[in-house]
Amino acid sequence: MAFKDFIKSAVDIGKAMGVTLKYLGTRPVTSEYPRDPVPLYPRFRGLHELRRYENGMERCIGCMLCEAACPTGAIYVEAAENDPANPISPGERYAKIYEINFLRCIFCADCEEACPTEAIVLTPEPAKATFTRRELLMTKQELLTPRQPFVVIRPE
Ligand code: SF4
Ligand code: SF4
Repeated sequence: MAFKDFIKSAVDIGKAMGVTLKYLGTRPVTSEYPRDPVPLYPRFRGLHELRRYENGMERCIGCMLCEAACPTGAIYVEAAENDPANPISPGERYAKIYEINFLRCIFCADCEEACPTEAIVLTPEPAKATFTRRELLMTKQELLTPRQPFVVIRPE
């Protein structure tokens, strides 16, 4: 290596070390998510929920419009006929199986827009951080656990 190149490399290393030293005492701009929660925008939409009516009945009528509207094929719905003596939803059918694959979901909310009964809604909960694929495939039982029976997400 020529002496000129040696000097140039030393100057570059000195500059880089200068930047390091400049920021050594400052607070980090990153946060240790999920240990430290991060502030979210008020209109942030994340994990989905399947909602019920006030009387406990499931809002989902198994129409599969959300499945058809989903651009990534993240939703799987299998409908079944309601038993008139013991209906699960007010419609003729209900969702026997309802699954969302969060490995595919892009949180576009097209499913929420397509749903005629406001059964599927995106909540302000951020998506899970996990190491297993299984935890990102949410079943109906996991989605159907709303903190409140019915919450108007977009009152307008
Ligand atoms: S938010 Fe979008 S991508 Fe995710 S399940 Fe709904 S329609 Fe599919
Ligand atoms: S969540 Fe809504 S759109 Fe999807 S199957 Fe149920 S009622 Fe139909």
